[in-house]
Order: sequence, then structure tokens, then C-alpha cells
Amino acid sequence: MAADLRFHVHVAEPTLEHGTPPVPHGHPAVASPISSTLITGERDAVLVDTPWSHDHIRVITDWIASFDKNLTAIYITHGHGDHWFGAPALLERFPGARAYSTAGTAAYIKSQHETRATAWDARFPGQVCEGEISPEIIPDEGIELEGNVLKAVQLGHTDTDDTTGLWVPSIRLFVAGDSVYNHCHQYLNESGDGGLDAWYRALDVIEALDPRYAVAGHKDRAQPDDGAAVQRTRTYLRTFQRLTEEGRRTPEEFFDEMMRLFPGYANPKALWRSVVAVTGPPTA
Ligand SMILES: [Zn+2]
Repeated sequence: MAADLRFHVHVAEPTLEHGTPPVPHGHPAVASPISSTLITGERDAVLVDTPWSHDHIRVITDWIASFDKNLTAIYITHGHGDHWFGAPALLERFPGARAYSTAGTAAYIKSQHETRATAWDARFPGQVCEGEISPEIIPDEGIELEGNVLKAVQLGHTDTDDTTGLWVPSIRLFVAGDSVYNHCHQYLNESGDGGLDAWYRALDVIEALDPRYAVAGHKDRAQPDDGAAVQRTRTYLRTFQRLTEEGRRTPEEFFDEMMRLFPGYANPKALWRSVVAVTGPPTA
């Protein structure tokens, strides 16, 4: 008989960036809060995504240990380093665990090994976890947790290429990686050239599963992990697309309008970067 599964979400704190342009109204330039999900059975557990800094890993190591389960696997949803740079340190701490991803994510991870210095170390000097991983390719039938299936769902392009989520049908949980955001401004710098249309199609795939719970890769820790986060992600994208198509706003006006429509969302810096990517930089 399959064990009853539960899930627990850890949100790693936003980290201050160095040497990046200022954000309007003095909002801090930080990396988005990152979620990691621990799915637990009676004795074993599977982690989905890791945070990325030395400080994050110290905190999440204690958090995982506090459940007193045998960590059997770490599944990586997509290749952006902020979702797996911590994996080598966690695999050392939990040597019984195996790292898994899709083939697309594994190839992307390899490319991030190469751009780590410019894309990450320069912004967060001395803070990014070292080490490399070559995840095993998750089988089509998924991996197993005490009689329950955990299955990778390929989503294609969302906030980057070759993204996936992990679907746990027995509890109707979708661990979404960056295909879903929850009360956090979305990273849209890779959404040109039909990127938004691809993201909408990915949200269709998730909604067809009809998840009861959806855990966003970047979220405000105070928000519930409800399935409605999928619809909110779509609303955010549609609104950003509408403002883009209307044109006529300066970058600052575009930013202010999104801030007005999505009050209290985490990480205005991500919004500012997304706006500048479509409007061009502000005129001095
Ligand atoms: Zn991300």
C-alpha cells in the first residue's frame, strides 16, 4: 500500500546583489526568494530544487534534517543556477540521495557551469555554492516515493527554456519550478520571440492536470501553495503583455502601473529588469 505523502515548502531569503543598476523608488536589488519542496512519506523524502548560497544551504540542511527522513532524491525542475547550485553541498550532506532531472535540464545545467562566473559570482561574490552536478535522467514513468509516483512534466519554455515540474498525482501536488510564480514579480527577460505564448501553453498543460496544490519556484512565503497560483501567473503575464502592446509608457510609468496592479508582490527588481528588457533603458 502506498504511504500517505505530505509536502513542506522552504523559502530561502532574498539575497542582496552587488554592482547592478538601481531600481526605481529605492527598491533593493535582490535575487528572488527561492522555494524548495520536501515531499515526505513515512520514512523517506524527496526534495525538489535547492537554493544556491552558502547561507541558504546551512539553513535548509537543518530544515531537511528536522523531518528525520531518509532523503532519497533531489529533483531539479530547470537549469537556472539558483535552483540547483546548492545541490552538490546537499548531496554531500545527504549521501543517500540521487540527483534527477530531464535531459533538457541536464544539458542546461552544463551550460550554467560555464556562465557561473559572469552571471552569478560577479553579483554575489563569495556567496554562490561551488561544485558541479550531472543529474541522472528521470525515467518516463517517474521516480517512486513509498509506493507513490512522482513524474516529471515537460513544459518547454516558461521563464527560461526546457523547464519542467514534478507532478504527484496521489496528492494532486504540482511542484512547478519557475512555470508558476506566487505573489512575486516574474522574470520575463527571456520572454521575447514568442516566449509568452510558450509560457501560456505550459500553463494550459498544468491546468489540465487540475492540481489542488501548486508550489511556485519563486514565492512570497506568506502565500498558500494553492492551485489558483497557476491562474494568477497567467494574469500577470497577460497584464505585462497588454502594457507592452499599448506602448506609450516610459519605463518608469510601465513599472509604476505594474506595481499598482500587483501590490505587495515580492522583488520589484525583477519587474524593473523585465520592463527595461521590453522598453529599453530609461533616458537619463
Ligand atoms: Zn528561478
